[in-house]
Amino acid sequence: MSTSQVIADAERYFVKAYNRAAFVLAHGKGMEVWDTEGRRYLDFVAGIAVNALGHADPTSLTVIQEQAAKLTHVSSLYWTEPAVELAKLLVESCFADKVFFSNSGTEAVEGALKFARKVARQTHGPGKTGIVAFEHSFHGRTMGALATTHKAQYREPFEPLMPGVRFAPFNDLTTTRQIMDDTVCAVIVEPIQGEGGVTPATDEFLAGLRQLCDQHGALLIFDEIQSGGGRTGTVWAHQATDTMPDIMVAAKPLGNGLPIGAILVTDAVAAHIQPGDHGSTFAGGPLVCAVAAAVFRRLSDPAMLAHVREVGDYLRTRLGEIQAHDSNVVDIRGRGLMQGMQVRGSAAAVKNAAQEAGLLLVPAGDDVIRFVPPLIVEREHVDEMIGILHHALEVLS
Ligand SMILES: *Cc1c(COP(=O)(O)O)cnc(C)c1O
Repeated sequence: MSTSQVIADAERYFVKAYNRAAFVLAHGKGMEVWDTEGRRYLDFVAGIAVNALGHADPTSLTVIQEQAAKLTHVSSLYWTEPAVELAKLLVESCFADKVFFSNSGTEAVEGALKFARKVARQTHGPGKTGIVAFEHSFHGRTMGALATTHKAQYREPFEPLMPGVRFAPFNDLTTTRQIMDDTVCAVIVEPIQGEGGVTPATDEFLAGLRQLCDQHGALLIFDEIQSGGGRTGTVWAHQATDTMPDIMVAAKPLGNGLPIGAILVTDAVAAHIQPGDHGSTFAGGPLVCAVAAAVFRRLSDPAMLAHVREVGDYLRTRLGEIQAHDSNVVDIRGRGLMQGMQVRGSAAAVKNAAQEAGLLLVPAGDDVIRFVPPLIVEREHVDEMIGILHHALEVLS
């Protein structure tokens, strides 16, 4: 089928919930993908920070084949070894004592909010249900997670959402302190905001939130769905700071493309959750967990993290060189292989120009171009990307 035929069929049969590119992807390998007409693209999107080991990763492929031949799904009624193996790896990678698996990021956030409500109810009674979230946050699209997502365009058509959410300006401890009180059961924050523009939280901000939560008997939830899994050069982004949460949600890179999310909690949180409180038919199945365990071993390997820091620094340097010569580039920010370039003008226009020249990029908000390549990216890929980006930025002039 021709590209135009596939797209015509797609327009006919799909709910129009996305604007997608005008080509049809067919296969990929490592840092590259090809469309059905044989055009090659260098991939600095990685399925939105998902394909951390790149496309058609040999390890993932072997595990998928071996595990699929044994067991794919068993439901939440039974134990399997891959799920237990993954649980152990995740818990031992961070502050957490226990894990609950989900199928996506938004579902992990949803579960985290439920856990926070349950802890508050059992500890303080029924009135403590408020949530503090931050401007430019993104926590997902289901009714609870969506209520904590800041962008009005995403929320307002679907109101009423979960009540009780208040937003404070990101990195503004003074205002956060003013809206915080004893009716708040949780504060949810991205250690590095992703969709909202690739903005790192300051160490002082996270430490201050920890203090405010302790003062008001609220739980601190870190949303590491995008920043976690080695992307910033530490296994979890918050591990570059001294601040630990009570709950952390993870998802995007865990399955290298297979859907999985995780809610990681302390024993103090887990103590309030009992059978019946939460559940999922699909989550934590042996296929996805076997793959995620193999993927997580690679992502959390010190050599991989050193590679992320090394190539991340190089990416940052090369983006900085562009900024030095291009007055349309306002700011470069991020950490490791999660970088953003704020421009004067439309990030989508730059993305489109790059795509036409064989480079996949994704905006984060209206004026930030995001760079979240597979973590296996090498300097030569950065060099090729910079060459194309350089020309693509000309659309702003
Ligand atoms: C992508 C993302 C989500 C939502 O994850 P889905 O898997 O798309 O539901 C939530 N929080 C953050 C920080 C994200 O980047």
